[in-house]
Amino acid sequence: MKDTLQFILAGNALFTVENAETGNRFTFKVRKPDDDKPHFVSVLTGADNEHDYSFLGTVFDGNRFRHGRKSRIAPTAQSARAFEWLLRRLSLRNDLPDQVRVCHCGKCGRCGKTLTVPESVDSGFGPECIKHL
Ligand SMILES: [Zn+2]
Repeated sequence: MKDTLQFILAGNALFTVENAETGNRFTFKVRKPDDDKPHFVSVLTGADNEHDYSFLGTVFDGNRFRHGRKSRIAPTAQSARAFEWLLRRLSLRNDLPDQVRVCHCGKCGRCGKTLTVPESVDSGFGPECIKHL
């Protein structure tokens, strides 16, 4: 993906972050239900990768992550720390170290539909949605 931060904050993002050095891997959903709401972050915590997501926290103003008080995941959990780190790193520098990879899961970051056009698979956005970024 060219612009990872843009993808993550596009409204319907589903992606996996992998650290090749540590072998850690987490799958996150970052949803913004409407323009007046912040982004809500959840993380895959079970075997069913369609449904087993747990609420993690909220992103305010596209750059401030706050761990959810109602989250059943500890703020010190690796998944929580990984997301916090990712957001901070991308908002400060918008690049990632070589060992860290972020991949979309084949769905458009803005509308969540399956990506089929090769250019869309590269960018993470469907042909219509990319016009609205
Ligand atoms: Zn789309």
